[in-house]
Amino acid sequence: MAAPLVRIFSKSFRQISRPWGTCQAAWRCSSSRAAPDVASDHAAASSFPPLQTYSEEESMMREAVKKYAQERIAPFVSKMDENSEMDEEVIKSLFEQGLMGIEIDPEYGGTGSTFFSSILVIEELAKVDPSVAVLCDIQNTLINTLFVQLGTPAQKEQYLSRLSTDMVGSFCLSEAESGSDAFALKTRAEKHKDYYIINGSKMWISNAEHAGVFLVMANVDPSAGYRGITCFIVDRDTEGLEICKKENKLGLRASSTCPLNFDNVKVPEKNILGKVGHGYKYAIGMLNEGRIGIAAQMVGLAQGCFDHTVPYTRQRVQFGKRIFDFQGMQHQIAHVATQIEAARLLTYNAARLKEAGRPFIKEACMAKYFTSEVATLTTSKCIEWMGGVGFTKDYPIEKYYRDCKIGTIYEGTTNVQLSTMAKFIDKEYDY
Ligand SMILES: Cc1cc2nc3c(=O)[nH]c(=O)nc-3n(C[C@H](O)[C@H](O)[C@H](O)COP(=O)(O)OP(=O)(O)OC[C@H]3O[C@@H](n4cnc5c(N)ncnc54)[C@H](O)[C@@H]3O)c2cc1C
Repeated sequence: MAAPLVRIFSKSFRQISRPWGTCQAAWRCSSSRAAPDVASDHAAASSFPPLQTYSEEESMMREAVKKYAQERIAPFVSKMDENSEMDEEVIKSLFEQGLMGIEIDPEYGGTGSTFFSSILVIEELAKVDPSVAVLCDIQNTLINTLFVQLGTPAQKEQYLSRLSTDMVGSFCLSEAESGSDAFALKTRAEKHKDYYIINGSKMWISNAEHAGVFLVMANVDPSAGYRGITCFIVDRDTEGLEICKKENKLGLRASSTCPLNFDNVKVPEKNILGKVGHGYKYAIGMLNEGRIGIAAQMVGLAQGCFDHTVPYTRQRVQFGKRIFDFQGMQHQIAHVATQIEAARLLTYNAARLKEAGRPFIKEACMAKYFTSEVATLTTSKCIEWMGGVGFTKDYPIEKYYRDCKIGTIYEGTTNVQLSTMAKFIDKEYDY
């Protein structure tokens, strides 16, 4: 069953005759607003389409990824979680579907789509497996974007074509002593003739087990403080780079999270991405965008968990009726459905603002903060609604419950999001 679907889907993504190609280009050129949903005449007539309005391309990608995730990822989820190991076939199929280079130009083998499409893809993948979603998220919203925005023609030629077809990338900022205070990082890059020597270590590096390239933030001039932070492209096979034993985590277990050691790692000067001393700006910029991706992951996770649970409440009978029919249950279910809807709207709004080139940082923080709260509430409630079986590994609910917690931690903790929002709010009242 799965093979023909994937072939059709893959063909659509990989070949020039993508059915949604022209539509997507048309709305992008004419307006920064979302194009009307083809399925909705009302939306087409409105000058302010609802937030959940998709271009034809976005609708098609969403549907195709939904099917792909059900057929090619769902069968592996439980085993990958149990073994703490991402299946190579899953990674391979993400590349085959064009989901690892969503915004990369087709010139480099990418899908040539948009940021908003990436958000929809991450949401759909997270409904099935948040670990797979974060692999796709980091590749698209952090790694590819950094190469696209800052790469020299030679760097783009060398890396973008691999990132869209067969190479995973990792983003290396955090260290043992610098998490929320990221720019206190200690990893040092010392300049020699036309190369640098990197020494230090990184912590919590997602996807490191499978990555072929690492974007490493290191300081070239500690006396300049954070203004010495520079972004280096480090290939996996570089001598002196050690990828250490992965963490044994509560959730997101299929996503590898590893410490890295840099022991006199020699990197040519041409491997600097962007400008020397601008790494902190790039990291802030990417994480602002990346937070919308994490918000999409949390929305998808919450929806996926809810979708597994509600049918159970409609089947399970106690006191002679469906447990869904008790008003005490209905009110809770309706409340959680509303929270998920609000979380989705915050996420889409931040993504549309970003895509329209308008300020979006406060909204991205709000989306990440709120969606991770909603994912926590949803997964906790779903376990309760399932009763005893929700607490077992016979159903996927307990996994969503474990997976959701990371939303309050990575790409800026909840406190960091709240502090950033407060800075914006403070300024707004500066008259
Ligand atoms: C599974 C996983 C994957 C990750 N992937 C990556 C990756 O790919 N690349 C990467 O570079 N990093 C990654 N990280 C690191 C992640 O970004 C950090 O864990 C995060 O930024 C928090 O840093 P910390 O763990 O050092 O916590 P700390 O900064 O020590 O925070 C601990 C607590 O103190 C609070 N706190 C800290 N400072 C303040 C403050 N000023 N005001 C109020 N409260 C504060 C925090 O909110 C938090 O509640 C990952 C982490 C995990 C767990």
